[in-house]
Amino acid sequence: MNSGDVSVYRRTELARPVASRSVKPRADGATGRLAAGTASTLLAMPEPPSGVQRDYPLSRLTTIRTGGPAELFARVSSVAELERLMAWAAAEAVQVGVVGSGSNLLVADAGVRGLVVKLDGELSKIELDGTRIRCGGGARLPAVAARAAQAGLSGIEFGVNIPGSVGGAVRMNANAYGGELGRVLEWVDIVSADGTQRRHPHELGFAYRRSNLGWGEIVARASFALEPAASADVKATLAQMRSQRKAAQPSGIKTFGSTFKNPADPRAEGRTAGQLLEAAGCKGLRIGGAGFSLKHANFVENHGHASTTEVVAVMTEGRRRVKERFGVELEPEVQVLGPVELPDDWR
Ligand SMILES: Cc1cc2nc3c(=O)[nH]c(=O)nc-3n(C[C@H](O)[C@H](O)[C@H](O)COP(=O)(O)OP(=O)(O)OC[C@H]3O[C@@H](n4cnc5c(N)ncnc54)[C@H](O)[C@@H]3O)c2cc1C
Repeated sequence: MNSGDVSVYRRTELARPVASRSVKPRADGATGRLAAGTASTLLAMPEPPSGVQRDYPLSRLTTIRTGGPAELFARVSSVAELERLMAWAAAEAVQVGVVGSGSNLLVADAGVRGLVVKLDGELSKIELDGTRIRCGGGARLPAVAARAAQAGLSGIEFGVNIPGSVGGAVRMNANAYGGELGRVLEWVDIVSADGTQRRHPHELGFAYRRSNLGWGEIVARASFALEPAASADVKATLAQMRSQRKAAQPSGIKTFGSTFKNPADPRAEGRTAGQLLEAAGCKGLRIGGAGFSLKHANFVENHGHASTTEVVAVMTEGRRRVKERFGVELEPEVQVLGPVELPDDWR
């Protein structure tokens, strides 16, 4: 395992640091980011705007329920409020991370330095506009799918089983059952320290479970362009997708869904990450309070009081076994927030 220094996180795709350190710009004009191993240069956190909370426990905002607190935390309910907060953070060189529904997120046990925001209020609303759905980045994707079905609109049915927010779905290019976000997404409004910018799907760099959104770029609003359809038919499709999912995946457990991406490596011979993990004997494998699910080997489950460290240990062992047995290096799908210690060779 690596130590939890910042340079480690920059090396892996999985471990992009959200809030590595919160420091004011240095006198020499360098950026406020702290280089690894220079803890002595850490400065006190500046006084945050009102409404920002300190030491907010993040585990309750994730579906795996692990990890420590955010140094600063704010629920943000409008674009204007978000812009103000991002401008303050940029001026004070405080890094900003965002939590959606936390359904694909591992938070460091030590917590997260800087500011973590969650979209709420206006930024979690869903509105109908003809055959379009306009919503906040904090709106839940299953709720968007249900609202579309109610209104007799088709195209976003695949979202019914993805327990994420619209912003998280855009960031992760979420999809299911052959449905694709990019096909129905019309635009997103991204708020960063530079203000708000509208981007279209071709500008989002969508690939398998990824986009080109960087840290400090928050999907505040989105518009979906859908097709008219019979409401009863769309509702029936949702019901069918729900029962299909119920049969295939464990429900009612603390998990972040698929742990690893399905590999493109020819040595996998077309098998999914779950099939490889199962064949490598990982089903039910447990370390501390974390283990691979007995129902679906690609799901890691928190059995009660697991730590993020234990979750990573289970993932590491599963990945090691698959590599040893099949020569295939599994790529994690889950994202991290804060200094999560990860093996060197994770990409
Ligand atoms: C039981 C289960 C089943 C799942 N099934 C599927 C599936 O079928 N298909 C699929 O694709 N995924 C699936 N997932 C994974 C997960 O639901 C998706 O990746 C989802 O898109 C994550 O959204 P979120 O809001 O929970 O993001 P989070 O987990 O909160 O965050 C994930 C990443 O997105 C970033 N992010 C969150 N909100 C924003 C925002 N507003 N702007 C910019 N960045 C943001 C975070 O900083 C982080 O980097 C499943 C998860 C679970 C637990």
